[in-house]
Amino acid sequence: LKRRLDTVLRDIEAELRESTERGEVANYIPPLASIDPAKFGIAVVLPDDTTLLAGDADEKFSVQSISKVFALTLVLGNRGDSIWQRVGREPSGDPFNSSVLLELEKGIPRNPFINAGAIVVADILLGAYQPRETIGEFLRFMRFVTADDDIYIDHHVAQAENDSGFNNAALANLLKANGNLDGAPAHVLGVYHHYCALAMSCRQLARSGLFLTSSGRNPITDTRIVAAQRVRRINALMMTCGHYDGSGDFAFRVGIPAKSGVGGGILAIVPGIASIAVWSPGLNRHGNSLLGTQALEMLCQQMNWSVF
Ligand code: GLN
Repeated sequence: LKRRLDTVLRDIEAELRESTERGEVANYIPPLASIDPAKFGIAVVLPDDTTLLAGDADEKFSVQSISKVFALTLVLGNRGDSIWQRVGREPSGDPFNSSVLLELEKGIPRNPFINAGAIVVADILLGAYQPRETIGEFLRFMRFVTADDDIYIDHHVAQAENDSGFNNAALANLLKANGNLDGAPAHVLGVYHHYCALAMSCRQLARSGLFLTSSGRNPITDTRIVAAQRVRRINALMMTCGHYDGSGDFAFRVGIPAKSGVGGGILAIVPGIASIAVWSPGLNRHGNSLLGTQALEMLCQQMNWSVF
């Protein structure tokens, strides 16, 4: 398996490095606009700690919306299923930053992976704490899940989004107006933008997803992160909502649960078998990594991996 995976990853990298069609980097977050679109990295980690890498797999990038998976995991641990009174579990069929359904559906976001839903999750995490404490708790959780202290939040990216994130501010205000935000919009947005600004490499991100492949335990450190049933549900949400209005196409082409971010990363889970992270900054029209999706499609096809 390992030798075969190694060859497959190398072939995928070689083929995709030749691509002329790479998509557009996210330019609405100023520091992300200057990332080199030619970057490409991929990491596969198996539950026995075998790690296979190709390309720029040790270079840190902005995790962005992939953080929403971990924020959801943390909030489920803290608050349990009561969170489902404030956020739904249906794919929205709309772009990640859309406010359309929020107005129609009285401030209950369709799912925790669109921005509106993730802002509600940030609000629940914040609770009665100060933003600084909540951000610290989130970072500690990421270091614990990954068993790696070399993970940080890029404050420059967070600040840039705080300064220019008018769309997210509109979402937070709509939530507040509809009675689905306890904190002050500025505080909640601060928490949300900081957890999006998490910086990790493909190797670290793939390690952080191991508990999703292994029924809620990190098999390397032998620690429980979350209950097995919760992991199945988190994976179900990744499958149905992880790529926003591109989730159906992703399921059709790749066939495993995954979550994208506008930094160009994707975390993908083959339950029981592997945790995969891929990074290519150019995005398709849904804001998901163009070559990252292609890489996962090739990998899953060649390894015969699918949840279907
Ligand atoms: N921080 C980004 C935003 O709120 C996250 C979006 C994403 O990665 N899809 O717009």
